[in-house]
Amino acid sequence: MRREEELTKITLNEEEIPTKWYNIQADMPNLPEPPLNPATREPLKPEDLSHLFPMELIKQEASTERYIEIPEEVQNLYRLWRPTPLIRARRLEKALDTPARIFYKNEGVSPAGSHKLNTSIPQAYYNKREGIKRITTETGAGQWGSALSMSCNFFGMECVVYMVRVSFEQKPYRRTFMQVFGAQVIPSPSTLTEAGREALELDPDTPGSLGLAISEAVEDAASRDDTAYSLGSVLNHVVLHQTVIGQEVKAQLEKIDAYPDVIIGCCGGGSNFAGLAFPFIKDKFEGKKIKIIAVEPAACPTLTKGSFQYDYGDMAKMTPLMKMYTLGYDFVPSSIHAGGLRYHGESPLVSQLYHDGYIEAVSYKQSEIFEAAVTFARNEGIIPAPESAHAVKAAIDEALKCREAGEAKNIVFGLSGHGYFDMTAYDAYISGSLIDV
Ligand SMILES: *Cc1c(COP(=O)(O)O)cnc(C)c1O
Repeated sequence: MRREEELTKITLNEEEIPTKWYNIQADMPNLPEPPLNPATREPLKPEDLSHLFPMELIKQEASTERYIEIPEEVQNLYRLWRPTPLIRARRLEKALDTPARIFYKNEGVSPAGSHKLNTSIPQAYYNKREGIKRITTETGAGQWGSALSMSCNFFGMECVVYMVRVSFEQKPYRRTFMQVFGAQVIPSPSTLTEAGREALELDPDTPGSLGLAISEAVEDAASRDDTAYSLGSVLNHVVLHQTVIGQEVKAQLEKIDAYPDVIIGCCGGGSNFAGLAFPFIKDKFEGKKIKIIAVEPAACPTLTKGSFQYDYGDMAKMTPLMKMYTLGYDFVPSSIHAGGLRYHGESPLVSQLYHDGYIEAVSYKQSEIFEAAVTFARNEGIIPAPESAHAVKAAIDEALKCREAGEAKNIVFGLSGHGYFDMTAYDAYISGSLIDV
């Protein structure tokens, strides 16, 4: 039997899967300012959202209860792959010649290949329970559409996915993946919605954007009584569902008597980052010293270059106004390969905590993150999603700082997904055709 501090793969038993989600709104010194109704600019009332979301999710959105029970049926589906392993990246540590200990939480082992299933399952569950038969959504890189398709299939519901056109073209196998689970996949912008037709008129060759695909999915859902809309990031309830990640990491590190000095997550809308970090930010509120880093692409630098203000979540200005870091609702990021990080806004919870100084942010260019991803793959055997590669790069940089300073810090990063549907991106990197924008 190896001593626990010598473990490489730190696992939990099935009974140790969290039974509650952690709601950071119970502990934040400053809550985010309320979302506003886009028509009146008055604070949003629950009924303003009831044509789009089930009541239980609307309640979770504004809840200040510290812990929210995970329904039994959701827990049972989590058991298909949770708890996910926390891995000590020993070979990477050696390759970097760092005294730091590097751990990664591997959410890529989920059947959908990313952390997104943590929220798509409860979202499908609550919708089903409230009588909804059909769910619309948007997807950028395809991970969210994959997770929601699978979840709707588990609960016997229809799923309609508006997929950002550039990803639809770059990732045909993602589309097939969703179709295996019975989803209808539509390239966005499409001619099926007002928002889509308008965008195509302006620019028939537009690569599309997440903001625009959201407009299409929202418009579709709002037009039918049996249909709800579902979002894979940004909103408080989504972030809430992801906190199973950080709670598990805490329990895993306790097994080896360790605590993180640095926590790193890639940040698109903020959900995997928040899911990993929030249970630890709770400790930071209570005085723990811990460095928490959100990593974003230089091509879509929401936290590092955006402004903190009320903005729409979508291009057609249909969603509520949220107080968040944003590059502007009409920002169309260039077609970088980390599709899941091409969103103009940011979770209001992450935004507020960044504004209040609990979180730091860095940005990297895509050539740097693919170089880091390949280093990681060659040592640890996993090809990361291009999104996750941002966290890999930051973890490597932190580990190299430790080498210079001779510090044996514990660095924990989130491997939000695997990159096995992203070979076009890796091919561009390997063949030298990847461009930094
Ligand atoms: C969607 C996605 C992201 C970005 O979304 P967040 O809400 O910021 O987590 C990151 N990594 C992977 C693998 C994704 O699928």
